[in-house]
Amino acid sequence: METAPAPTPPRPRTALVFGVANDHSLAWYIARALAAEGVRVGLSYGDERLERRVRPLAATIDAPLVTRCDVTDEAALAETFAAADAALGPHIDILVHSLAFATREDLTGPFSQTSRAGFGLALDVSAYSLLALVRHAGARLGPGSSVLTLSYLGAERVVSGYKVMGPAKAALEACVRGLAEELGPRGVRVNAVSAGPVRTLAAAGIPGFRTLLECHAERAPLRRNVTAEEVASAACFLLSDKASAVTGQILHVDGGYNILGV
Ligand code: NAD
Repeated sequence: METAPAPTPPRPRTALVFGVANDHSLAWYIARALAAEGVRVGLSYGDERLERRVRPLAATIDAPLVTRCDVTDEAALAETFAAADAALGPHIDILVHSLAFATREDLTGPFSQTSRAGFGLALDVSAYSLLALVRHAGARLGPGSSVLTLSYLGAERVVSGYKVMGPAKAALEACVRGLAEELGPRGVRVNAVSAGPVRTLAAAGIPGFRTLLECHAERAPLRRNVTAEEVASAACFLLSDKASAVTGQILHVDGGYNILGV
């Protein structure tokens, strides 16, 4: 009697996560949560000085890829995705963009004094790079793939101290919608988590960040700050099949702070 061939086990999901700087990074929390779900996670960091922090973290999740990539460098992007082919295979199920940058001068001076070059740099690194990642990922993103970025309330409202990052996040959120519309017919979803303030390296560069944290804890409907784990949980939801009909959305994970008026 012939026996039916054993069914092939499903291929493990793959993810490429950009923006890990250290063990406080939102990208790291997301990467770790994805790995805990059995996803094979490749990590990318932006600066060579971060390597000594990122490699030991990568080892704890058996990351098949750890690579440096400055997202403003087209050649580095091409190399990163070529390395991902070798390490993760031809499909990227999950693409995470968790990075931003503005110069210290443009975060500390008056908003109207933002330099033309600084404005361009902030928009390039923090918003355009999402398009660049998707462009370089190309056909590696297939039906069922999901893209996620990290935004902040400063995209929608004036947050004192956020300065040039406000327009950068507004542009990022518009990119989320534009990409969702373009990639939807291919079955690829694109979303953002708009996170409440969490202590990280990038957050330390925002003037008055401590006041922001205090304000959120005092006034948010949940009367507390959010944790990086909660941001990662929401990210994993958006990146999973549980959110299979959700695209082009900005999900606030901020204890409800964004709904407040006076
Ligand atoms: P983080 O400092 O850990 O991460 C920022 C990352 O951006 C770093 O890994 C840095 O290397 C990377 N980066 C900067 N320039 C780059 C470049 N040219 N190429 C490649 N990478 C580059 O801080 P984080 O708070 O985890 O920030 C991650 C994302 O979350 C950012 O988009 C940030 O705006 C967003 N966010 C943070 C908070 C918060 O309170 N921490 C709240 C809402 C949104």
